[in-house]
Amino acid sequence: MTRDIQDKIPVVILGATGCVGQKFIQALAVHPWFSIAALCASERSAGKNYGEAVNWLMPKPIPSHIANMKIQTCMPSMGRCIAFSGLDSSVAGEIESTFAQEGFTVVSNARNHRMHPSVPLVVGEVNPDHLDLVKGQKFPNGGILVTNPNCSVIGITLALKPLMQFGLESVHVVTLQAVSGAGYPGVASLDIVDNVIPFISGEEEKVETEPLKILGNLIDGTIQQASLKISAQCNRVPVTDGHMACISVKFRHKPNPDDLIHAWESFRGEPQKLNLPTAPEKPIHYSTGLNHPQPKLHRHADKEMAVTIGRLRPCSLFDYKFAILSHNTMRGAVGSALLNAELLVTNL
Ligand code: NAP
Repeated sequence: MTRDIQDKIPVVILGATGCVGQKFIQALAVHPWFSIAALCASERSAGKNYGEAVNWLMPKPIPSHIANMKIQTCMPSMGRCIAFSGLDSSVAGEIESTFAQEGFTVVSNARNHRMHPSVPLVVGEVNPDHLDLVKGQKFPNGGILVTNPNCSVIGITLALKPLMQFGLESVHVVTLQAVSGAGYPGVASLDIVDNVIPFISGEEEKVETEPLKILGNLIDGTIQQASLKISAQCNRVPVTDGHMACISVKFRHKPNPDDLIHAWESFRGEPQKLNLPTAPEKPIHYSTGLNHPQPKLHRHADKEMAVTIGRLRPCSLFDYKFAILSHNTMRGAVGSALLNAELLVTNL
């Protein structure tokens, strides 16, 4: 379904100048349902034209009508609409709450509200039913707050969801995360060129806890967390875009390797059934290449929205191990936020 420009749903981008904000602008410029009504960022950028304030990092030029838009401060002074947040977590908590209080539908990428019991933490194909949690939210004026998981967690939970049917018990994951995941300017070049940094602040805790909520069940308005143990080690690597994760898994009922590949390849979710504009055709691609997946080769798979999995093999400690790759600013942020908004528009 494509809407005429006058019928498109207006949206505002909070944190429009950052890595995630720029990706939102690129994706929304061609979105069939949504159109950008306002751009917000910090006091440093407010009052300037977008083209003047932003350090544009995207490969395509800034859409001309966006370059001339005036940036506003993050105050809910525009008409109520959907607010996509790419705000730094140091400020996201308060600003997002204020927008929800004022009746906006806030779709956030920041960590601040993710684990609150009444806030859905959603990957469109994995747990769309959790969006029902918004019915228990108490914001006045019909405000809603929905969150995206951490960028690595989105790829990881997509890979794990089809394996839950085999009684997934334990997961060990080592991530290799791109520099764009740290925002702009992010990690200093002298720290990351010719180097790997085995520490990303707060990341291991997110990878160990967020999947338990996402893979849990919504029962009587409450999420019952998945009974699963996850141990994570997170590393920053000198790759621009594309987070990789090397994962070992242990099951209560060990399946055959073919069962796992079939479960991944045949996996489809609500966004595919509804044919949502941002949905990949297949959320998971299994690649048989001996040295796959790789950021350079696979981060653009299926609108940058698919997770590519490869190298499934036996594990001498657990049952199996494999590697996964997903685009951190698209699948890991903007694309997943768009899917959540598309699900909300379709279902609520
Ligand atoms: P970023 O490049 O540092 O951008 C941060 C944005 O927040 C900028 O637009 C900045 O505006 C704005 N901002 C900072 N301080 C502000 C203030 N006091 N008031 C209003 N706006 C303020 O960060 P990013 O990588 O885009 O990440 C944005 C959020 O998404 C973070 O919460 C991050 O954890 C999350 N996330 C990022 C990724 C990724 O791959 N990068 C993936 C998933 C989730 P100015 O330019 O005016 O300072």
